[in-house]
This record gives sequence, structure tokens and C-alpha cells, in this order.
Amino acid sequence: MTYVFPPIRLPTLPIQGSDKVFPIHRIYCVGRNYADHAVEMGHDPNKEAPFFFQKNADNVRCDGTFPYPPASTDVHFEIELVVALKSGGVDIQPADAMRHVFGYAVGIDMTRRDLQAEAKRLQRPWEVGKAFEHSAPCSALVLAQHVENPSRGAIWLEVNGARKQSGDLNQMIWDIPHQIAFLSGLFALGAGDLIFTGTPAGVGAIKRGDRLKGHIDGVGGLEVSVV
Ligand code: MN
Repeated sequence: MTYVFPPIRLPTLPIQGSDKVFPIHRIYCVGRNYADHAVEMGHDPNKEAPFFFQKNADNVRCDGTFPYPPASTDVHFEIELVVALKSGGVDIQPADAMRHVFGYAVGIDMTRRDLQAEAKRLQRPWEVGKAFEHSAPCSALVLAQHVENPSRGAIWLEVNGARKQSGDLNQMIWDIPHQIAFLSGLFALGAGDLIFTGTPAGVGAIKRGDRLKGHIDGVGGLEVSVV
């Protein structure tokens, strides 16, 4: 088989302590998964089943910069634990879910909040707000065996040295096994899939020149300059 033009190179994530890279298949993102963030977005945290949206695999960016995107004047950061899968399937039970996890990373779900708000208002899809170029800054992956307990630990983000978001992984409404189980009831999960697991309260707007610093206990840090 011959391609009519060269296919784009598969997007990848670096892996801490390895010269191999992780090939990215799909990106799933869970919405409103920390109660205090659901409340700040004007929703009741108690009534909702988990819901998901997607980004494109090539929206991931790992070079420590975030080019401010076009068409928005209100781009928000959302610090998130990223779960990387080494295998998958359908109808995975929560008790079996964690064996599919390859590793973890610190990610930011960059959001054109003004375009997302407009999409919500018009009952249109969210891609313009969520799945734009470079919208998924991400750290290198840490192997799952090196992450002692991904169900608890501090998660925070600072902008220019000021703490904006601060939470604990144990505040997730739907924990990692239930996110994997729920997603696998809707999609065929597979090796290379990433799950952005939601963000605690404190999201806010960024501008060019800002320096973002994120941290998740047991996983590490992520520094991003807005350019
Ligand atoms: Mn998010």
C-alpha cells in the first residue's frame, strides 16, 4: 500500500527514565469530576453521571510552551491527572480497570471558555472550545508501578507563582477505575488512549507571558509558558 501523501507522524508522549515514547491513540476528558469545580461552573455536583468529551491526539504538546490560540479572549487552564492506557477493551469492570493503566502524567485541559460557553448556550458540540491546537500540554509519563497511590494526593496549579487551583485526587466524583469502566461501556478503549480525569476548582484565564506551574503528588510537575 502506498499513501498518496506522507501520513502525519503519530503523536507521542515521552516516558520518564526511558528513551522509548508512548504512541497516543485517543484522548478522552471527563467533565466536572471534582465537586467544587462543578459548583464553580454552575452545576449541581450530586446529580450527574460522568460525561466525556474528546481532544485530538495531536493536540498534546510537551515542549513547555503553549501558543495562545486564535478566536478566543478567555482561555482557561484546568490542571488534570492524565491516565495512559496500555490496553483496553469494552465493558471493563472497575475491579479490572487498573491493570490497563500504563502510567500517569500531569496535563492541562486548555479551554477556550468563551467558545465553550457559546457552544453550551447554542447546544452545539464542544470541539471549538476544547479540541484546538496545542490544547493538551502534558508532562512525560511516569510508569504506573512508580506511582504509589493515584487515588489520593495534592493536585495544584500556580500562575506566575500564585496558587490558583488546589485540590486532592481523592476529591474526584468518579475515580479512575469507574472512569475506565464507564468509558469502556461507550467506546472500545485501547492501548495509547489518554484520559484527562477532571480538574479541581479555581480555573481561570491566562494571557501571553504567563508562566504556569502544575504539580500532582507522586506524578510530578509541569511547567508551561504562554507564548
Ligand atoms: Mn477538564
